[in-house]
Parts: sequence; C-alpha cells; structure tokens
Amino acid sequence: MSKAKKIIIVGAGPGGLCAGMLLSQRGFDVAIYDKHPEVGGRNRAIRLDGFTFDTGPTFLLMKGVLDEMFQLCGRRSQDYLEFIPLAPMYRLQFEDKHVDMYSEADNMRPELQRAFTEGAAGYDQFMLKERKRFNMLYPCLKRDYSDWSALLSLDLIKAAPWLAFPKSVFGSLAQYFTDEKLRLSFCFQSKYLGMSPWECPGLFTILPYLEHEYGIFHVKGGLNRIAQAMRDVIIENGGNIHLATPVSGLIIENGAVQGVELENGEKRHADAVVINADFAHAMSNLVAPGQLRKYSPERLSKLNYSCSTFMLYLALDKIYDLPHHTIVFASNYRGNIGDIFTKRTLSRDFSFYVQNAAASDDSLAPAGCSALYVLAPMPNNDSGLDWEAQRQGVREQVLDALGQRLGLNDVRPHILREKIITPADWENQEYVYKGATFSLAHQYSQLLHRRPHNRFEELDNCYLVGGGTHPGSGLPTIYESARISSNLIARRHGGAPAEIADSSWLKRA
Ligand SMILES: Cc1cc2nc3c(=O)[nH]c(=O)nc-3n(C[C@H](O)[C@H](O)[C@H](O)COP(=O)(O)OP(=O)(O)OC[C@H]3O[C@@H](n4cnc5c(N)ncnc54)[C@H](O)[C@@H]3O)c2cc1C
Repeated sequence: MSKAKKIIIVGAGPGGLCAGMLLSQRGFDVAIYDKHPEVGGRNRAIRLDGFTFDTGPTFLLMKGVLDEMFQLCGRRSQDYLEFIPLAPMYRLQFEDKHVDMYSEADNMRPELQRAFTEGAAGYDQFMLKERKRFNMLYPCLKRDYSDWSALLSLDLIKAAPWLAFPKSVFGSLAQYFTDEKLRLSFCFQSKYLGMSPWECPGLFTILPYLEHEYGIFHVKGGLNRIAQAMRDVIIENGGNIHLATPVSGLIIENGAVQGVELENGEKRHADAVVINADFAHAMSNLVAPGQLRKYSPERLSKLNYSCSTFMLYLALDKIYDLPHHTIVFASNYRGNIGDIFTKRTLSRDFSFYVQNAAASDDSLAPAGCSALYVLAPMPNNDSGLDWEAQRQGVREQVLDALGQRLGLNDVRPHILREKIITPADWENQEYVYKGATFSLAHQYSQLLHRRPHNRFEELDNCYLVGGGTHPGSGLPTIYESARISSNLIARRHGGAPAEIADSSWLKRA
C-alpha cells in the first residue's frame, strides 16, 4: 500500500482485537475505539483487591485457532501467553453422581464406564462420527457468506448431509447414548451458545467433540490475558487503541459508512469500518432510524436471541477443594431449560457452573484464598423480569445452591469482596442487546448466510466481527470472523499478503 488505508474498529472485544491484530499486520492504519477503559469486552478481567476473574469466557477450545491468529501476525502465541491444559477438563455434577470428563480417551472410557455402564462404546462411535462431521463442516464455518455464490461451494454441498437438519443436539445424540444423563454430558455445551439442547441444531454435537478431541485450556492470569496479548500485538504493529472513547454513531453517506462519530462529538473518517460491538446493540444504537431494512429496530427485536446469565464473582479468604470447572445440573434439567427459554421465568431448581481457577493458577487469588466465578443461565430480557428487585434474592439462591449441591456450606462468612452481573447489567453496562450474553441464537434460520454477513449486507464499507456475525459466538469462531472480515478488507483495499498459518494441529487424531 502506498499510503496506509485507515480502518476503524468499533469495540475492543475478542473479535475487534483479533481483526485489529490481523489488519495492522497487513499494513493497515488501525484505530480501535471502546467504551470501556480496558480491552477485552466480555473477555475482560474483573479485579477485586488482589483477586482476578474473567468476566465471561473461561473455556479456551480449539487453541489451534488462536495459535493460527498469532502466526498470521508473524508471532507465536506461547511468547505472549502461558497455556495450561486441563485434565480432567471439567466435572459434571448430577444429583446422584459426578463424572470427570477427559480429553484423553484412555481416561474417558473407564470414567464413562464407571458412571454409566453403557458409556464407553457410545463414546467411541461418537468420536469417530463427529470427527467426520467436524472435518466436513469446518471448511464451511471458515468461509465467507457475504455473497450468495458461497452457497454453491462444493464444501457446503458436500457438508449438507452432516448439518443433521432438522435434529436437535439432544436428538442427534440418541444414536450414541440412551441414558439421559449420559446424553446431557455430551449436550450441555448447547449452553455455550445460550441455547437449549432440545432446540440447538444437531450439527453442534461438534462442540463436545472439539473438547474431547483437542482439550480445553486455561491461560495463566485468566483468559482475559488473550485480549491483552492481542492489544500488545496491535500496539507493536503501530495500531492505536482508544479506550473509554465511546462511538455514538456511524457516519453514513449514500449507503456507505465513511467513519464514526465519537460521543465527544469528534468525527473520524476511515476507508472501512469494522463493527465488533454486539451486533443488535450496534445496529439499534449507532445507525439512525430508517437507514436499515433487514435489520431495522423492529426486525431486530423479532430475531431469536440466546439466554442470559446471572454472574456472581466471589473473592474468598479460604481455599475450596473444587475442580477448575464444575457444571452442576438442575435436578429437573429440562424443567430449568423450560423456565429459561419458554416460560422466561426464574427457577428454584437451577443449573449453574462454577470456576475455581485458582486451583490451577495461583496468580488469581492471594495465598490461602479462592476466586470463585459462578454462572447461572437465566432468561434474556424478553422476560421483563425486574432485576433490581430480583438481584439479592437470586444471589442468596446461588449461595444456597453452592452449599446444597457442592457442599460449600460456609461460603458467606468467607466473602471478602464480590461482584454481581445480572441480565439487566449485561444490557445496560456491557451493551449487550436484551442481555443475551451469547448474542443472536444459533438456530438453523440464523446460521451461515442467514446470520448477519461479515461484509455487512446493508451498508457498504462496513464489516462485522464478533459473536453476532458468522460463524458465531465462542472465541474460536469469533477469531474466525476476524480472519474472514480482514481478508475481505484486504481483498478490497489492498494490504500486504497474509502470513501463512499452520493448520496441522487439526490432525491430532
Ligand atoms: C458469561 C459468558 C461466558 C462465556 N464463556 C465462554 C467460554 O468459556 N468460551 C468461549 O469461547 N466463549 C465464551 N463466551 C462467549 C464469547 O466468547 C464472549 O462473549 C466474547 O467476549 C464475545 O466477543 P465479541 O468479539 O463478540 O465482543 P464483546 O466481548 O461483546 O466486545 C464488544 C466490545 O464493544 C464495545 N462497545 C460496544 N458499544 C460500543 C460503542 N458504542 N463504542 C465503543 N465500543 C463499544 C464494548 O464495550 C465491548 O468491549 C462467554 C460469554 C459470556 C458472556
């Protein structure tokens, strides 16, 4: 490029940072703006007096994708981050038993056999068939669907039978497992997409497969370190990150985005603008009414969104003997799912997840202390629940559940500091539309070309990255969205050729 083209990125979440890293590496003049004073978005750190928590993501799946993003920037991820593989990956806690889940087949088979007598044979079949499904689908997930011609790609035509349409994840697993709890052990991952396993498309059986094939990683210091490492690469590449600098609107002329207006009234022009802010939030707040048709405020409100979460971060002056990740299933799991997605109400008997990361990372809590992260899936804000009124009551319920389901009966007197994020806080303080923490739902009608396109179909010079565009929510897919959009921008505006990434990690099996 003779004169570097200017790219503005709205949002320093994982998608915006990854795009910033890839674009600055290719010689673009990158400027990122974020409302928060720290990078990371939902992948930011929460710090409470010497305790560190991840706000959102705690499971790093498909670490190989992250490694590739650093390679595309001529770097090695391990020079920036310390990865800790987890074995077991996590504990599943049912009312009558627990199961420790491993990514090593030699550990997984006997554990499944112990907990569910039918377990091991189905697991082998699951791994064999889901490996094929993933190998067929992954090229389709990495592809851009901004043009209709992508629907005619050979990859997609060959993958069509593997979409498992119209089955749900729970239904799809029937071919491997009959025991309901065993099936739940391989489909609770639908919650990573904020969906019910009875609604989540059958193709997402690749999620548990990916865990079992490639394992789950923690990053020393928390997954928020990934965002900080990406920030470092951007700055090394000469990019600029403007924090605590909200964007108030897109500058649009003749259907093309020309730049952004900041909340302080200043205008910034660019050759292309990348939106990383939550898609539905951005389109309903940064674009003047009347500019959008397909994603007008009325139509946005009618799309399907993920569930929300109630978060409790506890800084405790005691060490608790809990695994790194524990997933606790409501006694009536299906009833709890119905409360969240159909009745949109609170459950007395609810599922939750606890992260005790200090068990494998002593940098997160002072000596003799624990930093517990508790997440309970909740209805999104379509529920109309008054979270100011519910906040304390749900906190008490969560603390009671820690005692009743995990034996942590003495937590209350050991709390030094705490922080709560309710579904209303996700919407009002984290700028997430309807507090739907995992963005647009991933039903068949909102996938691939039916998800908002990476080259945004309604505005020229505008590109999308993050959980609300293709391929979807979750760190590896968000990084893929950054790769797709960066390639689209480079194709249109020039830019240095991309570095080569090594995908040989995919051949672990
Ligand atoms: C509780 C929770 C747990 C999760 N767990 C996992 C997990 O274990 N593993 C996993 O892979 N994924 C997980 N996810 C999903 C996903 O990885 C994260 O939500 C991820 O942070 C989403 O990234 P994003 O790029 O879409 O942007 P976001 O993280 O949403 O960041 C968007 C950024 O845009 C900024 N912004 C918004 N509006 C403006 C504006 N007007 N001007 C300037 N800036 C603006 C925001 O401040 C924010 O920093 C989890 C999500 C949540 C919420």
